[in-house]
Order: sequence, then structure tokens, then C-alpha cells
Amino acid sequence: MAVDSLIELRGVNKYYGPLHVLQNIDLTVARGEVVVVIGPSGSGKSTLCRTMNRLETIESGLITIEGTPLPAEGRGLARLRAEVGMVFQSFNLFAHRTVLDNVSLAQIKVRKRKKEDADRRSRELLDRVGLLSQADKLPAQLSGGQQQRVAIARALAMDPKALLFDEPTSALDPEMINEVLEVMRQLAREGMTMVVVTHEMGFARSAANRVVFMSDGRIVEDRTPEDFFTAPASDRAKDFLSKIL
Ligand code: ADP
Ligand code: MG
Repeated sequence: MAVDSLIELRGVNKYYGPLHVLQNIDLTVARGEVVVVIGPSGSGKSTLCRTMNRLETIESGLITIEGTPLPAEGRGLARLRAEVGMVFQSFNLFAHRTVLDNVSLAQIKVRKRKKEDADRRSRELLDRVGLLSQADKLPAQLSGGQQQRVAIARALAMDPKALLFDEPTSALDPEMINEVLEVMRQLAREGMTMVVVTHEMGFARSAANRVVFMSDGRIVEDRTPEDFFTAPASDRAKDFLSKIL
């Protein structure tokens, strides 16, 4: 294992019944790296993200975080999930809790912080994503872009070692996409390790260290953005790019 490797997948296979949804996946994410995952709908991108913090089980293979194999269950798993945070397309905020509570709750429950310490940290993070003034509102009073920035603050509040983003801007109106991508670019500049499933090719070009292209449950290409976008090696990637660019 490379010294600076943070997340490693080796020979990972996953099935949904007869569907071989992840096929022999090998992937290394180094500390501080931004890996953008792209590919057609149904190619296994979300499943890949979800296996990385064991929201899904796998049939074979090994996933390690800083060299420690992912535990299958129990307290070790909850702790590990806190270390690899996840941001979803659909925000998943608690509708009946304030923005501040949304960012504080898991800190209190999982990280065992005192409420006042959690709230202090939440305010810092809300400030960082430009939403301190919204702390006492309910999620529904915020725009989609603001809600997604709250979800990012909530993930950051667990002091994760890495963050996984599954199409974080796909549910947003176009004018809100950039405010979320800008927060993500800032995190990348600060050295956060990130795996990002996205269709935002501008983000992939400008922020990714590597682009991973998936098709039918396999990683077909794993290259720098320059290489991938200027000279995709596989017909599948060429075909995909011709449809979206
Ligand atoms: P992507 O995110 O690239 O669109 P997914 O990882 O969501 O792809 O899905 C990959 C494949 O697995 C698709 O064929 C999808 O229909 C199937 N799939 C996803 N989740 C489930 C599930 N819970 N049960 C059965 N099949 C699923
Ligand atoms: Mg998906």
C-alpha cells in the first residue's frame, strides 16, 4: 500500500441478485486527492460510493481506510462512517430541525460532543459555507443550493478524513450549481480528500486530480483529466463524452 493512500479498494465485487453491479474494482484514493467518477446512468457510480462507507455490503474484495479494513458492522462501522462523510443528491436534511441542529446533531450523537461545543463548531462551518445567517431557519426556508451547502457543513462537522459526493448538484436549478461547486473547489484547495460523482465536466477538468470512468460495473479508465478529456482511450468513454460535451 502506498504511504499516502487513504481509501483502497481491491478486487471488490458486488451483486444485486443476478446483476454484477461492481466487477473487480481496484481503486486507490490518495490523501488530498480529488477523484471524479463519471459514466453513464446505471454504471455503478452510486453503488461504488455507497460501498466505500459500507452503506452497501460487498460479496468479495477488500476496502481499507488508512490501511484498516472496513468493519462489517457494529461500533467500528459507525465510527468509520463518520470518517468518510457522504453528501447525497437529495440533501437528506432533517426537515423539522433548524439548520444549526442539522449540523450539530451527529456531532452530539456520534462524536459525543457537548451541545455548546457542537453548536460552536456548526456556526464556524456554516460561516465557511456562507450560511451563518441562516442558522435558525428550517431547511425548507432555504434554496436547494443553500440546503446542499448545509449538508456539506454537516458532513464536515464530523471531521471526516474523506468526503464522498454522489451527484451533489444534480437536483439543483442551474443557477445554484456553481455555489455548491465553489464550496467543493474550496475544500479541494484546502486539501480535503474527495470522491465526486458528477456530470459537471467543468468541475472534473478544473478540480480533479484523476477521472475514473465507469461503464457496466467496471472502471474502464482511470487517468488525469487532461488525458481523459483530450484522448479518451476506450470507445465507451469516447461515446459518453460525445453525448455530453
Ligand atoms: P449509477 O449511480 O451509475 O447510475 P447505480 O450504482 O445507482 O448506478 O446502479 C447500478 C446498477 O445497479 C443499476 O442497474 C441499478 O438499477 C442497479 N441497482 C442499484 N441499486 C439497486 C438495488 N438496491 N437493488 C437492485 N438493483 C440496484
Ligand atoms: Mg447514481
